[in-house]
Amino acid sequence: MQRGDVSDRTPLRDGTMAVGSRRGFVAGLVALGCGAGAGAGLGAVARGSEVTARLRPPGAGRQSDFLAACIRCGQCSAACPQDALCVVGGWSVLLGGDFAGYATPEVDDPRARPCTLCPEHDAMPCVAACPTDALTDPGARDAVYMGTAVLNTATCFAYNGVTCRACWHACPYPGTALAFDERLRPVVAAEHCVGCGLCIHACLTEEASIHIAPRREQAARGGAA
Ligand code: SF4
Ligand code: SF4
Ligand code: SF4
Repeated sequence: MQRGDVSDRTPLRDGTMAVGSRRGFVAGLVALGCGAGAGAGLGAVARGSEVTARLRPPGAGRQSDFLAACIRCGQCSAACPQDALCVVGGWSVLLGGDFAGYATPEVDDPRARPCTLCPEHDAMPCVAACPTDALTDPGARDAVYMGTAVLNTATCFAYNGVTCRACWHACPYPGTALAFDERLRPVVAAEHCVGCGLCIHACLTEEASIHIAPRREQAARGGAA
């Protein structure tokens, strides 16, 4: 299935270019890639195997299916109005060994640039731009499954005596994906959290007290990997 034209050149986060086509891709191995400017990419490299646990765009399925269907064209990244997506570049591939992930899209820094799910658009631009079935329409925004938010109760204000509801206010599904317990502490409902990262973006602690476990890391929804 083809839903759009595929341009040949896609900007990487560091300003270099990946070159792609429907038949494949060629990209500069010197590209630093996602988050490298902010150190996030190199951090992922340093953590070894975690580098392949990437937060994929909404509409992506299982990692194996996604990697098989994605043609590394970068159209989803180019279409994202929030600049939430970038294509995986050189260092995290070369040093982390994630060769299968090269030039695939990810939400690399939800603290700075979360996926908003684009509620102002009828169709999510990233999904609409994808010329293959790598990204498919989930049918409804609340059916998106990028991953699951995980709280760090050691640093979260609400778990340490300070009233805070910033993540709850930011969550597109407050009371469903992110609720409060009887002590007004946030609790994530894994079966409803879409993994957008808006809570990370909003978190008021210096380092976010919530992160997203990409769907590959866990099986919150019926064993889906
Ligand atoms: S849904 Fe919107 S913000 Fe999220 S990755 Fe797609 S285009 Fe970007
Ligand atoms: S808990 Fe966080 S990641 Fe999950 S839906 Fe709410 S804002 Fe998005
Ligand atoms: S915004 Fe951060 S500190 Fe505040 S309740 Fe949510 S996770 Fe905790």
